[in-house]
Amino acid sequence: MTDPVSAPTHPIAGLVARVHERHRDVKDGVVATYIPELGRADPSWYGIAVATVDGSVYQAGDTDREFTIQSVAKPFSYAMALGRFGGERVQGIVGVEPTGDAFNAIALDPLTNRPFNPMVNAGAIATSSLLVTGDPVADRDAFVATLSAAAGRQLSIDEAVFRSEVTTGHRNRAIAYLLLNAGALAAPVDAALDLYFAQCSVKVNVVDVARMAATLANIGTNPVSGAEVFPSGAVRDVLSVMFTCGMYDGAGLWAHRVGVPAKSGVSGIIMGVVNRRLGFAVWSPPLNERGNSVRGLRASADLADELGLHVFDPLSIGASFLDAL
Ligand code: GLN
Repeated sequence: MTDPVSAPTHPIAGLVARVHERHRDVKDGVVATYIPELGRADPSWYGIAVATVDGSVYQAGDTDREFTIQSVAKPFSYAMALGRFGGERVQGIVGVEPTGDAFNAIALDPLTNRPFNPMVNAGAIATSSLLVTGDPVADRDAFVATLSAAAGRQLSIDEAVFRSEVTTGHRNRAIAYLLLNAGALAAPVDAALDLYFAQCSVKVNVVDVARMAATLANIGTNPVSGAEVFPSGAVRDVLSVMFTCGMYDGAGLWAHRVGVPAKSGVSGIIMGVVNRRLGFAVWSPPLNERGNSVRGLRASADLADELGLHVFDPLSIGASFLDAL
């Protein structure tokens, strides 16, 4: 059977290439240096990938080059925790309210004494603490195996970035102690942080991230392999918290401008999910002052406009462009 959506002449292929080209010369933004290894990134690196729930991928730019997933790990560890422990136990340790604060804010919800949500560092460290079993190698392996199943290829941890985070992550250590003090840490500080830093240090390329997003869009089942990576009930909870909290203190502008559940990371990656349709990812290291990729924001807004992805787009009910094909 020929696969019409993979044809090189397919309109989405051309569209992705055009959106990539449009933002290639952007000079705004600064590469993150607070994790020393990340400071080695070249500001010109830039790739886009769109992966549909029928298994097709469209890509442009630096799509083979690997980088660390950073905070885009957060929705996936949240999904794992929900799958393992259920919503009630997980919500006992981390809430679902947006913060309006920076991703690394040293703050808890004053009403609950818990982190506001699992998409900021405090909430992700609490989530990681739930996933600690006492066997650090098995815990890392389980996370890498889950991301690999979502991406559809074997992934691994970038040990240099991991060590860079362990040795310089004093702010995250402060957050972990705040959680310990509040009774919101389910494991010892070092164990929770080691797993958290390992999660942030998984090496991916932009196509991997688009395929992970497509797995979420496909309600937890990898569209290509058919593997059930996340339980469908967990995916609903993950996507809703991504929608309100995934872009930190830039979540409001993102919801307004792009209008889909998303997550960003300080390596310059942004992942977007169009429920039951597709995942997309844009990667380029220079960040704005809120820690979100500048090219990532601009290219995502264009993809949303041109593919009709915004959930409240008056002309579509999600992905009208795809319907028209
Ligand atoms: N590893 C990074 C940190 O903890 C993740 C932050 C991010 O990607 N926004 O600071």
